[in-house]
Amino acid sequence: MSESEEQKPKLSIVKILKCKNNDCKAWVREEFAVPGQVCPMCQGPMLRTMKHLPALQKKYKSPSR
Ligand SMILES: [Zn+2]
Repeated sequence: MSESEEQKPKLSIVKILKCKNNDCKAWVREEFAVPGQVCPMCQGPMLRTMKHLPALQKKYKSPSR
């Protein structure tokens, strides 16, 4: 098993809150959610779940002076 993989963005599993309404695709990252978070689109209840997202690239470049 030594296949060279193409460079893909790494996916990480992120905890999110997803709208319970199947017709509504709104979701928010749990880290940005507030207690009692409701759907920003339809104001409905939200459900804790997971989502595969590309890892956040940290904008952390050392300043070059
Ligand atoms: Zn919704």
